[in-house]
Amino acid sequence: MSRNLRVAIVGAGPAGVYAADILTKAGADEAREDLGSVSVDIIERDPTPFGLIRYGVAPDHPRIKEIVKALKRVMANPDIRFFGNVSFGDDVKLDELRSFYDAVIFATGARRDRDLDIPGIDLDGSYGAADFVYWYDGHPDVERDWDFQPHAESVAVLGVGNVGLDVARILAKTAEELLVTEIADNVYEGLKKNVTKDVHVFARRGPAQVKFTPMELRELSHSPTIDVIVHPEGFELDEGSLEAIRAAKSQKLVVDVLQNYLAKEPTGAPHRIHIHFCQNPVEILGEDGRVVALRTEITELDGTGNVRGTGEFKDWPVQAVYRAIGYYSDNLPGLPFDVNAGVVPNDGGRVLEIDGSALPGVYVTGWIKRGPVGLIGHTKSDAAQTIDLLLSDLDSLQAPEHPDREAVDRYLDSRAVEYTTWEGWEQLDAHELSLGESHEHQRERVKVVPRDEMVRISRA
Ligand code: NAP
Repeated sequence: MSRNLRVAIVGAGPAGVYAADILTKAGADEAREDLGSVSVDIIERDPTPFGLIRYGVAPDHPRIKEIVKALKRVMANPDIRFFGNVSFGDDVKLDELRSFYDAVIFATGARRDRDLDIPGIDLDGSYGAADFVYWYDGHPDVERDWDFQPHAESVAVLGVGNVGLDVARILAKTAEELLVTEIADNVYEGLKKNVTKDVHVFARRGPAQVKFTPMELRELSHSPTIDVIVHPEGFELDEGSLEAIRAAKSQKLVVDVLQNYLAKEPTGAPHRIHIHFCQNPVEILGEDGRVVALRTEITELDGTGNVRGTGEFKDWPVQAVYRAIGYYSDNLPGLPFDVNAGVVPNDGGRVLEIDGSALPGVYVTGWIKRGPVGLIGHTKSDAAQTIDLLLSDLDSLQAPEHPDREAVDRYLDSRAVEYTTWEGWEQLDAHELSLGESHEHQRERVKVVPRDEMVRISRA
């Protein structure tokens, strides 16, 4: 006996689209006798698909944004539908989804900044990287103006992952350099107000413990307006560091790139990105409610890859602080949540209740499953694992109360939800491309930012 399957995927980022692809391919596999037709609806809070690619990847990384081409091919499959501008928890709840689908997969990612509990974190001029990324990527739900501090010539970036690099690079580049990208007009105008000259990036551990990837680190020096300056203090490789370098080629490459920067004389470029090691941020100092400095405790490597504090402190005069210490997922209404790990508890993708029992028919994939680490490509194998489990649960999945495809459309219509469709996205996509073409600087795309405008164009 073969079973037809209707699945909802919440989240249209790469994790969700890869899951839809793997599922529908399994449905098309004639060798699978247990599985009949498979149809998937992807439900997304944003009016547009592609999640992190549109609203996380930096605008000057067009190569990574090219992944969209492969995702578009997946979405062209008529067995996959897109419902954008639908907020899970508000417009539709878990019980409702379970009444329409045999299974629900959450691929909602992580979109907030992890908290950093140090004094001064709430001062004016202290920001989360995720908020800044949303702003420069033109997300509809953030303020149109970024509050660049008028005298912020020196700024700190906390954390040495690729998000820290993105933030440092966007702060150090000129608005003109970014004009060739797809940034929205308000972002270009905003960036013109950025007076940053020195970006200080702080690692709390040593050079062999950074989370940068080699290509992204090398690329920092590609801008003619930026000198990358690696500071020698704390640039130490202890036994734990040598072990880390031996264990992973990419880590060795990263350390090599850092060593090259260390040996290089600055060219006198107008902007500088400084990288400092073994400086643990402990306080943001303020005057009249605004950031005036960052205090770090100098650390030393302890031989295991970790560090210990030395009890020596250093104050760095900076007028803004961006924390790029990792993302954090939203708690999803009706689902259990592991507050420490910031994920939905799961076993390989099967959602688990707090008592460890499985929540039948509910799955997770991507960052909401394993935390906010790894590159976009990693979500593919992750989705494969989740789908394998879902398909192995086929016999035990409860049949939905309203299995017909249109039941969802009717439900959303009855709630007056102004959802967008794949065809709607194609309209908005064409509109943004035409804005780019007709722009005085002949740009590839200019993003539309206001949600109501995106919805209006998509539903026209
Ligand atoms: P990440 O790679 O986990 O880096 C977070 C950084 O924050 C680490 O250096 C970490 O240091 C530091 N940190 C954490 N808590 C801290 C604290 N209390 N004080 C000081 N520093 C602290 O996270 P991410 O940069 O958000 O990146 C997330 C994922 O997206 C990564 O896999 C990344 O490669 C990927 N990504 C890729 C690109 C790209 O262009 N390819 C762009 C953006 C993001 P410790 O190691 O000491 O904890």
